[in-house]
Order: sequence, then C-alpha cells, then structure tokens
Amino acid sequence: MTSRALVLFSGGQDSTTALAWALDRFETVETIGFDYGQRHRIEMECRETIRAKLPALSARYAKRLGPDHVVDLKALGAISETALTRETEIAFAETGLPTTFVPGRNLIFLTFAAALAYRRDLKHIVLGVCETDYSGYPDCRDDTIKAMQVALGLGLDRRLVLHTPLMWRDKAQTFALARAIGGEPLLNLVIEDSHSCYLGDRTTRHDWGYGCGHCPACDLRAKGFAAYLAAPDDTGLIP
Ligand code: ZN
Repeated sequence: MTSRALVLFSGGQDSTTALAWALDRFETVETIGFDYGQRHRIEMECRETIRAKLPALSARYAKRLGPDHVVDLKALGAISETALTRETEIAFAETGLPTTFVPGRNLIFLTFAAALAYRRDLKHIVLGVCETDYSGYPDCRDDTIKAMQVALGLGLDRRLVLHTPLMWRDKAQTFALARAIGGEPLLNLVIEDSHSCYLGDRTTRHDWGYGCGHCPACDLRAKGFAAYLAAPDDTGLIP
C-alpha cells in the first residue's frame, strides 16, 4: 500500500521543513494552504515559489510532490481580532498570548485538512507545529494535536495519523533538520524562500533569510539561526 500524506503548508520555515520531512518518508505528498485574509500575501506567494523549486532539489521530491490545495477560510479572519489579519500592533495581550494568536486556528485547519485527506485518501497529515518555541499558542501543543487525532479519527470513522516532526525541536534544530534532510540546497531554500516575518517584510536579506529583523518571528528565526551555526549537527533527539 502506498503511503500518502497531506502537509499543512504555509510557506513558513517550519512548514517548509515539515514538507521536506514528509517528502523524505511518504510516496505521495499533497499540500494544503489556507487563505484566511492574512494581512500580507507574502506567505501565499512563498509557498508557490517553494513548491516550484522543491522538485529541482531531488528526483524523489519531483516524483512524490502531488497537487496543492488552497482553501478559502476568510470567515476565520473575519471573526478573529488578530495582528495577523488586522492592522493591529504585534504585542502581548492580557491573556499572555501575542496578538498574532488566531483562536482555534490549528483546530480549524486540521478539520479542513482531515476532510480533504478523507476525500483524497491520504492517511497521514503532517504539520510543522512546535511546542518548544510556540509563543504560548495552545493549539500548537502536543496534547492538542493528539486530541485532534483522536477526535478526527472518531468523527470520520477512519484512521488518520497526525505527524508533528518539529514538536520538540527548537528553531536551531529545525534549521539543522532541514540540512540533515536535504543538505545545503534544502537549507538554502528554507533561508531564501520561506517566510516567517509577521510584518511581511522581504526587503532586507539577513543571513537567516528575509524579514524586518525586529518582530517576534524574525527574532526567533535570527536567534535560531545563530544557535544553529554554533551546533549545525544538532537535529534534536526525535527522528
Ligand atoms: Zn519581522
């Protein structure tokens, strides 16, 4: 039986690494992205660039990378007061969560991904969430994802396996993982073409990629890359 996977792919560093991880393991890999009225269109453009460039890195990627699916979830943006979808300052709210938090985002993404996976006969769902650097987003927690696996499996009456290869890795280990999977070409693709900056800034190129250099996402990525350079072979404990 062929192993078939669906990757939640946003065009950011983590989901790009998760996509490469999936291409390394599964015979067919499709991608899903969500348009929820993000303030910046950059990530949506980056995901197309990355998907276009991945097949050139490896014959295996070229053979395995299947169709992309973009789901319109503008209703999610409409009901979320968040700095990702509105011109709101990026800061920490009274809840202790950053204003970039979209409540329940991953729960909704996973539900749509599972519905698509069901229709496309894709047993494995891969997502680049991480509890290590997760800014306190409760829907990135390992327990949340495990609970979703159970809920979706019951609700669809079909076995779905949710994979989170970055769950226990920090940003430095995520850079190292990209290099371990696809060597310098994949690492360079992650640096050059994946996008993390909350402000959508791609005017300044740093050694870790493009971004404003000041927002929480840039800060995390910059510090992670510096730590990666200090320990480039540390991909974390979980393969
Ligand atoms: Zn930034």
